[in-house]
Amino acid sequence: MERMILGYVVLLLGAIAALAVLAERRRRRFEPQPTEDTIFRCGKCAFVYTDDQDVEVSRCPQCGATNEAVEF
Ligand SMILES: [Zn+2]
Repeated sequence: MERMILGYVVLLLGAIAALAVLAERRRRRFEPQPTEDTIFRCGKCAFVYTDDQDVEVSRCPQCGATNEAVEF
């Protein structure tokens, strides 16, 4: 009887852990790019900003330097 309860608890914890992992994966997939914009990081002043997806090189709105898209 005790073994059955233990097995049940382990199974339950396993299910919770699996759900947590799935939720974390889903969150990570959607969080970095909520829009379809490309993320740029300025190499001159380290300012992070977004621009249209079809733009290959974007100008930093803070210092005016041109930057290439950041790939995650
Ligand atoms: Zn800049």
